[in-house]
Amino acid sequence: MPERKFAVIGHPIGHTMSPFIHKRLFELAHEKGEYTILDISPDELPVKIKNLNELSGYNITIPNKQAIIPYLDRLDEKAALYGSVNTVKNGSECVGFTTDPNGFLKALEYANISFSGNIAIIGCGGAARTFLYEAALAGCNITLVARDIGKADSLAKEAVQKIPNANINTCLISDLNGEFDLLANATPVGMYPNTNHIPVSEKALAKCKNVFDAIYNPLETVLIQKAKANGSNAVGGMSMLVWQAVAAHEIWDNSTYHIDDINQLIEDSAKEMKKIFYK
Ligand code: NAP
Repeated sequence: MPERKFAVIGHPIGHTMSPFIHKRLFELAHEKGEYTILDISPDELPVKIKNLNELSGYNITIPNKQAIIPYLDRLDEKAALYGSVNTVKNGSECVGFTTDPNGFLKALEYANISFSGNIAIIGCGGAARTFLYEAALAGCNITLVARDIGKADSLAKEAVQKIPNANINTCLISDLNGEFDLLANATPVGMYPNTNHIPVSEKALAKCKNVFDAIYNPLETVLIQKAKANGSNAVGGMSMLVWQAVAAHEIWDNSTYHIDDINQLIEDSAKEMKKIFYK
């Protein structure tokens, strides 16, 4: 039987952790799958979709998460809710899924962060939408925090239209104040190579019991370091990155994994990332 082929598509797509993580997940599940990187822009999709349809499945990263949708036969419920696809399974139909929410929820679960109470979400992009919708579905009291209040208001409005009982306030980053059970950063502030920045004031951070940072490079942002120094429970984004990949293998192959193997993969992915970026 020819080896099944998988890929991650994005543009530009230079350094990506996806081949390292997915190859290990195939090995752990005793499944065979070749996994490659394809640089494809949204403009190229009409021509390249033929090649993508020959794969058994693929992952999608920026800027194709919305652009891929018209080329699929169907979206699963969550991908339809989010209007975003990061995983496709090809078979008799080409079906789009989003595994970012699973990745986020598993990362919180294994960091012992309970997803309830007062939650502050920083940012209004793709990751913020994931955090916002999941927080709304979990019944949290949400403060959506942004540098542009118009963008926060419009994302909050969109979420309330889709999840009518969502409880969402918006505020400017500079006005953030109050006690939070969880602060979730969904901006690139503090990401490599501009690692000295934090997205909120230290005063606001000091009032947050738990902190999650979507950024995985560096493994511990200054936000995470300062939160830990305050005595808060704080975790970076590498575990989310690995768990969203695990969810893709659950979709492709119904694979199941032992938690110890996934924890080891999170550690090994951290080492691999250091090798790539901090030689
Ligand atoms: P995105 O769609 O580009 O959104 C970025 C958001 O951050 C926007 O709302 C943007 O505001 C805001 N922002 C950018 N620079 C800012 C600044 N200096 N101050 C305040 N706000 C700022 O990006 P994304 O896909 O959501 O990704 C955000 C971060 O999450 C990235 O670091 C990414 O690597 C990480 N991420 C991690 C995972 C994981 O699995 N761990 C998954 C997804 C994303 P404007 O709209 O005003 O520009």
